[in-house]
Amino acid sequence: MLERPLPNPEEKSEPKLPSNTYKVLYDGQCEICQSCVSWLKTLDHENRTVPLPISSEVLSSVDSRLRMEDCLRQLHVITPKGEIRVGWDAVAHLAHLFRPTWLIGMLGRAFPFRNLGRLLYGFVATNRYSLSKCRGGACRVAKPEEVRKQARLDAFWSCYTLGFFVRLPLVLWSGITAAAQRMSVFARTYNNRLDLLDGKLTILFLNGMLPNTVPLLFGELFTTVLYDGVAIDPGSPKMRRSLSRHLRRLKPKVTKIIATHAHEEHVGNLNWLSDLTGAPVYLSEMTAQFLRPFKKLPWVRSTIIGQPPNLKEPFHVLGPGVDTQSRRLQVIFAPGHCDDHIVLYDPTEKLLLAGDAFMGSYFSTPNPDVDSRTWLESLERLMELDIEILVEGHGHIHTLRADIPDFPGVVVREDPKIALSVKLDYLRWLREQIEAGFRERLPVRVIEASCFPWGRRSSWESCMTDECIRLLSLGHFSRTELVRSFVRTNSDALPTVYEARLTGVAEQRKASRYIG
Ligand SMILES: [Zn+2]
Repeated sequence: MLERPLPNPEEKSEPKLPSNTYKVLYDGQCEICQSCVSWLKTLDHENRTVPLPISSEVLSSVDSRLRMEDCLRQLHVITPKGEIRVGWDAVAHLAHLFRPTWLIGMLGRAFPFRNLGRLLYGFVATNRYSLSKCRGGACRVAKPEEVRKQARLDAFWSCYTLGFFVRLPLVLWSGITAAAQRMSVFARTYNNRLDLLDGKLTILFLNGMLPNTVPLLFGELFTTVLYDGVAIDPGSPKMRRSLSRHLRRLKPKVTKIIATHAHEEHVGNLNWLSDLTGAPVYLSEMTAQFLRPFKKLPWVRSTIIGQPPNLKEPFHVLGPGVDTQSRRLQVIFAPGHCDDHIVLYDPTEKLLLAGDAFMGSYFSTPNPDVDSRTWLESLERLMELDIEILVEGHGHIHTLRADIPDFPGVVVREDPKIALSVKLDYLRWLREQIEAGFRERLPVRVIEASCFPWGRRSSWESCMTDECIRLLSLGHFSRTELVRSFVRTNSDALPTVYEARLTGVAEQRKASRYIG
């Protein structure tokens, strides 16, 4: 399941092994070694080290003196001068390179800490391998078939858990840093707006007492987009005051109101805004169906975001195109995030108003009505468009265009097509991973863990936020939903007990003894 590593920006560039770096040879099968490499990458801001997972090709290309057996037994580091440091001495040598660990490195090379360190290292080195005989997400293995035969589920979990605890301080630290960043973006966007393209595109940031918890805790901002006279996704009832304040200040000419899909934070003010501005409401047929009547939301969502009212007539059903004040937008059906999602595309400006059809490259806590296979197909179709500006429904704009000014936390300086292709690669990798897991009848929890291998930086970096989202949404948005989103057979969300239905109790018992 893991022979094909995730396309990962941090791993993309194969190191060219410059001569002034420390080459760190580690066992890519071992969770302990992998977590040490996570620490190393975090400490090494100046790229003084190059971690290299051991393989016969790597060893022969790095230094002919290295022997596979020795390298698998303990850590080997080649210094820029060509010296080989081994085991504890290698650890101390690396620690000495970085300011936060400099003292450890210094003491670790002197009596009695050196002897103590060697003793401790010896113990871990001899015992680590028995812990590492797992398969799944935690380890990337050299001989997956071999490991699969002998791997036990409890070995996988002990290994995965160990990997987590070794990284725990890093997990907490990234959680805290991310929270501080969210706070700063929230403060800068609070009841603010962003006027772009000479006023043709305006992003109104919406707030509300309870809705504010979402951007603060999870980083998703609430917005209404005004594009050339069209108001897109006018928020939920609990954001109505904020929207109304924006409209009083800006006095925009609204000629049409469109919702990209029927999620509560996008459709709660359709009739209200229409009554206020006199502009007609346009929706896809399916969105209109979902809004008449609007199904009762789970109480967490209705309390925080607000239950939208049922849609009232009159409204118009969207065709393949819709006129704005000065041009025509293409209406493209893009299901996946939910069944009724549409996006709006302006070919003249090369601008895509994506709603929630694109939510960052590594969105990992979807809602229960996501169908990731359909989403993948939709994104593949969007890839065919010429896009220079991609506007998300939750406050991010991806563009390299110079006429869009910087706004840290909102404007992301990347080519929209590259953002889309990274997302596509990620979804394809997830699909393979999840399909392989179900083929092998692994329990869903194991498949979920294998989709978030600790060896991938973003897995542990987003861990704290993702788990907070799971907890606070009472499981409505979670990493487990990501796995589920690939196994839908129809538009109905699978019930929570589907795990037992899919794998069967007897098979689960078998799977808990042996995997594969
Ligand atoms: Zn949505």
